[in-house]
Amino acid sequence: MAHRTRLAPSPTGALHLGNAQTFLVNWAMARQQGWRIVLRIEDLDGPRVKHGADRDAMELLAWLGIDWDQGPFYQSHNLAPYQDALRLLAARGLAYPCNCTRSEIEAASRSAPHADEHELCYPGTCRPAELTPISASDVDLDACGWRFRVEPGEQAFVDQFAGEQRIDLSKSVGDFQIWTKGGLPSYQLAVVVDDAGQGIDRIVRGNDLVTSTPRQQQIAAALGVEYSPQFWHLPLVRGEDGKRLAKRHGDTRLAHYRTLGVPAERVIGLLAEWCGIGPREPMTAEELSARFQIERMPAGDVTFLAADDAWLTQTS
Ligand code: GLU
Repeated sequence: MAHRTRLAPSPTGALHLGNAQTFLVNWAMARQQGWRIVLRIEDLDGPRVKHGADRDAMELLAWLGIDWDQGPFYQSHNLAPYQDALRLLAARGLAYPCNCTRSEIEAASRSAPHADEHELCYPGTCRPAELTPISASDVDLDACGWRFRVEPGEQAFVDQFAGEQRIDLSKSVGDFQIWTKGGLPSYQLAVVVDDAGQGIDRIVRGNDLVTSTPRQQQIAAALGVEYSPQFWHLPLVRGEDGKRLAKRHGDTRLAHYRTLGVPAERVIGLLAEWCGIGPREPMTAEELSARFQIERMPAGDVTFLAADDAWLTQTS
């Protein structure tokens, strides 16, 4: 059976050069190696989802020359598989309710290390001392947040691009959220249910998600689902200040360049250079895929410079 990968845009904002880089590499690897591609729209991030951003993302992927074999599948269209997964974890005592606010967690974990600038290490305030199974009828899916009870200890996995990774979730993030008070699954739970359910065994994504992988592996093990994908966590594109590409770095949205009349081949030419294909020159996605070699992709994050923007927008 063919391997399967997924393109998983979140319709929470417009696609920029950084997203394009990851999607293009994922697509090129899939086309080179005969993997099937599923398009999944990850639209569960309630308040941040922007109306029409799904359509825009699909249009821009097509503009770049990126296609897919199945989908789009929208996570929001059927919540039942995520609800079932939460109920199963709760029944096994591996999920528990927690409505702590961010400031409460902050106050309780003042002396504990923080996972990163956005994420706090949950200090275990609501964690039952022992495994406490909760029956399905007692699982409040609508107005209660739920956390996953992490297995302590160092966990190792081999990333096909970034090499061996080791992480102890109990020290970095602690028991993380898998269900929100708003009645929706969190990214970590939804992505495991879908990757397992859709038979995804090749995952290519940005290295900002490398610390999510052990969480997803633990959830999958707790659910008892078939899940042993190979992972490639790729370099991100950053602005000159070293921060992840965002609005403050100017308009790097694909839609912006498209509106200016920049040909997709030029955008791909820049991404090709970032992928280690050689000096930038306009090319199609097909051409990139014919020349791309993952072994030659530079390991470090890329810096987007004003000169890159100038090269994209030059008219001759
Ligand atoms: N939807 C996620 C994003 O846009 C990707 C998640 C994943 O690849 O696991 O960042």
